[in-house]
This record gives sequence, C-alpha cells and structure tokens, in this order.
Amino acid sequence: MMIISKGPKIKCKRCQKQYDIDPVDFDDADISSDERSMGYELQYTWQYMSNCVRCKNELTIIVEGYEYPVGAFNYEEFTYEGCIVIENPELEIKHIEEYEDDDIY
Ligand SMILES: [Zn+2]
Repeated sequence: MMIISKGPKIKCKRCQKQYDIDPVDFDDADISSDERSMGYELQYTWQYMSNCVRCKNELTIIVEGYEYPVGAFNYEEFTYEGCIVIENPELEIKHIEEYEDDDIY
C-alpha cells in the first residue's frame, strides 16, 4: 500500500502565509482499483482542506498516487487550489509485511 511519507509545503495564494502540512493532516486515502494486464492498479487519493488562519482563504490539496503493478510505485499527481506549492509531498510504498512486524513489536 502507499502512504504519504512527507507532507507538502505550501503558501496561501491570497496572503502568502506559509504552511507545512503534516501527512496526518490529510484525510484517509480513498483507494480504487482497476484490473489491468499486470494485475491490479491501485489509485490512492488523499485530500486536505483547510482555511487560511490569516485570510480565511480556502486551501485544498489533492494528492493522487498510483501503484501498478501492486507493490510498485507508478506515478503521482498533485492538485493545489487556493495555494501555491513550495515543496511537493513524497509518497512511499509500504509493504504489508512491515506493518505486520510493527504490530508484533
Ligand atoms: Zn491566506
């Protein structure tokens, strides 16, 4: 599965205030899958919505990650509304085994 390993850095389009967005500030991923020639393609969509604390401007970030074939990173796409990106987020493939290990220890 895919996770956001590093959140984006943005600034408000209206007042230029800067924000460091933490990966946990995003909603849980929406995951959809499509069957293709090498198996399933998984699409993850994370959304972040907030209002600028200074000018109340609406800030929206949509992060999309594609895993295809399963376990391999394919590509990513970022959409920014009401804000300007300073640094894109980073996505990472996490293998399920690592999660199971984390649960034991
Ligand atoms: Zn603002």
